[in-house]
Amino acid sequence: MKCPFCGGDSTRVLDSRPTDENTSIRRRRECEKCGARFTTYERYERLPFLVVKKDGRREKFSREKLLNGLLRACEKRPISVDTVNEIVDSVENEVVKSGKHEVVSSEIGEMVMTKLKSLDRVAYVRFASVYKEFRDLDHFMDIIEELRDDRNR
Ligand SMILES: [Zn+2]
Repeated sequence: MKCPFCGGDSTRVLDSRPTDENTSIRRRRECEKCGARFTTYERYERLPFLVVKKDGRREKFSREKLLNGLLRACEKRPISVDTVNEIVDSVENEVVKSGKHEVVSSEIGEMVMTKLKSLDRVAYVRFASVYKEFRDLDHFMDIIEELRDDRNR
């Protein structure tokens, strides 16, 4: 695996262990050329599924998007990046296991909130408030679209 810092071709694995829920393997690596250290995760490959937004638009589920939202909610809280990764994994697993190819965005929000609630109250409230704002933004966009439609009539 190439070093993300210098592009060097050989890296050494310093440490390799499963994450707490045993759904992925975390590896600490060191570049043999520049000495930089970084982490890689090995996890199951999953089939992509679509997220249906409130207005019916669909987009591909993005791990990264959900992960970033969660990291923001968990900022300065006693929650490790591994734990946050596991929440994303388990949400993704739940959807894949259900065999659905599409899932409504509010369902994903509810799944995350259920998991956060038992983990950390502050992160839970933060996530809920951001999530509600997204809903308001969607609503705002609906209104704009309606106004635009009226004008074109
Ligand atoms: Zn390097």
